[in-house]
Amino acid sequence: MEQKLKVGIIGATGYVGQRFITLLADHPWFEIVALCASPRSAGKTYEEAVEGRWKLDIPCPEFVKKMVVYGTDNIEEYCEQIDFTFCAVDMKKDEIRALEEKIAKLETPVVSNNSANRWTEDVPMVIPEINSDHIKLIDAQRQRLGTKRGFIAVKPNCSIQSYVPALTPFLKNGIKAISVCTYQAISGAGKTFKDWPEMEGNVIPFINGEEEKSEKEPLRIWGHIEGDVIVPATSPLITSQCIRVPVLNGHTATAFVKFNKKPSKEELIAALNDFKGLPQEYKLPTAPAQFIRYMEEPDRPQVRLDVDYERGMGISIGRLREDTIYDWKFVGLSHNTLRGAAGGALLCAELLKALGYIEAK
Ligand code: NAP
Repeated sequence: MEQKLKVGIIGATGYVGQRFITLLADHPWFEIVALCASPRSAGKTYEEAVEGRWKLDIPCPEFVKKMVVYGTDNIEEYCEQIDFTFCAVDMKKDEIRALEEKIAKLETPVVSNNSANRWTEDVPMVIPEINSDHIKLIDAQRQRLGTKRGFIAVKPNCSIQSYVPALTPFLKNGIKAISVCTYQAISGAGKTFKDWPEMEGNVIPFINGEEEKSEKEPLRIWGHIEGDVIVPATSPLITSQCIRVPVLNGHTATAFVKFNKKPSKEELIAALNDFKGLPQEYKLPTAPAQFIRYMEEPDRPQVRLDVDYERGMGISIGRLREDTIYDWKFVGLSHNTLRGAAGGALLCAELLKALGYIEAK
């Protein structure tokens, strides 16, 4: 059997980091060999570092408990242990940019959940089913960084995964304008109800920076490569409102869509159900067999019933119906810490391995 690639997680003690650990515990291609967090956690065993703040229902896997956590102040030694790393940290953007670039220059590929490098021109921001063609930008990025194997790849914001996958197969019909509202779970802020009791029975109509990401990131995903950079798409127009709701996991979106030429309902539903990409073609370990499903029931998708569809990696769409101002409207649901965070980054890493961009050192 082929040797597993050695992987590390930076931000291993956080919400997304914990998801990475549970997803990678039994992975066929990747094996966790190092964990990293802030200098506050450095030198502690993982068990000590997360004491009282393990946030998932799934218990912490035994094999990581005694691993000693590296700090980002000792990143050189951390990088020596691994073939590539995931990164999901709560730090200032310029610090994250510097950290991720430093790791890439240590010839260690970084697959990042952070937003800091999402607009770096030669860094691919990937939803593997949608824009896997952007991955080839890595060749140009390696030239800029002067690396042979190191690079940075990022995944987009969690909330756009509840509507961008559905809109992508609709683009062939020519979309003029999109209005979207997202109803976002508290784990999207790295929190549980225990950490954030004010969210019980509450709705907060503000998530810092989220509307800008919701309107701009889809255009970069739908952009094209010109020379060594991604040129974002200039249409459709997107407007958004992002609301925090008392849900633990699962971002819901309601979207309204104006087309150049209005397609039929049957055409749109077929486009959703038929949509697939390289993860399905290559049968990647974390890929959902069915990326998007359309649900006919009038009261679906529901967070409680549907958030774990395809192990949290599939997108559920429902309530597609005609609109009085736009042409069509629908509701979408995705799992924010699986498809929207650790699972999406893991799928991206699997694709990078399948395409030969991540190899053993
Ligand atoms: P979190 O639970 O607050 O975890 C933050 C992590 O960052 C912890 O491991 C923490 O380590 C580490 N950290 C803090 N300061 C650091 C420093 N100076 N050096 C190194 N590590 C440091 O946050 P999260 O929800 O997992 O989010 C992490 C990142 O993923 C953020 O950029 C977030 O925007 C992004 N993201 C989150 C989601 C989601 O659904 N939650 C979705 C998409 C993207 P210590 O324990 O040692 O403090």
